[in-house]
Amino acid sequence: MSWDRNIVIKSQAELALMREAGRVNALALATVREMIGPGVATADLDAAAEEVIRKHGGIPVFKGYPGAYPFPATLCISVNEELVHGFPSKRRLKVGDVVSVDCGTLLGGFVGDAAFTVGVGEVSAQARRLIEVTEHALQVGIAQMRVGNRTGDVSAAIQQYVESNGFHVTHEYTGHGVGQQMHEGPQVPNYGAPGRGVVLRPGMTIALEPMVLVGTPRTRVMPDQWTVVSVDGSLTAHSEHTVAVTEADPWILTLP
Ligand code: MG
Ligand code: MG
Repeated sequence: MSWDRNIVIKSQAELALMREAGRVNALALATVREMIGPGVATADLDAAAEEVIRKHGGIPVFKGYPGAYPFPATLCISVNEELVHGFPSKRRLKVGDVVSVDCGTLLGGFVGDAAFTVGVGEVSAQARRLIEVTEHALQVGIAQMRVGNRTGDVSAAIQQYVESNGFHVTHEYTGHGVGQQMHEGPQVPNYGAPGRGVVLRPGMTIALEPMVLVGTPRTRVMPDQWTVVSVDGSLTAHSEHTVAVTEADPWILTLP
């Protein structure tokens, strides 16, 4: 089934609920960002995020998410060549690591979905630039989320920005509508052609998520059946916000 058939327009009241889910999700991510440093185990980040979400009455929506087997954690933590869907574990972060953290919160019947990437201590110049380009690519995409634009305009803007900076976007994983379900329509890839795709309308809510790779657009899934890595082992990064299309400016729902 095409996700594009599962587009759900939200009312103002529903957007307010999504904003609250997004705010709590942002608090969990902010807690994790504060904790990240050399020697920290990724499982400890996961526990802290879950505590924040549950303290606010939310549910970590990734936990138990269906796949080859249910996703086992609150966070996806993806280090270096891991692009998305990495597991928290006893692994301890080291200086120079590039860490992506993705979190989803269900609260009040709606989901907030967001991610960021950060360096651990001093990282290479290339890693710094990768992180900057990935975070800025998200803003470039959000700026296109205006009534009357199409999803292809958003996708193309992200792709052009990333590729003009010498990096690659994945063609294998995409942004997506989000609401009562974590994955609704439309799909919003990180590549595409302007003027194509679904027309954006007020009340559409989309988790936009640039996934950027240094050496190749190609990925593979590790034997754990979840963790997605670059095929060449090169560094990767991921940024994400849940954003509502409005009559005015795009509304980022996953800010603190
Ligand atoms: Mg996410
Ligand atoms: Mg997402």
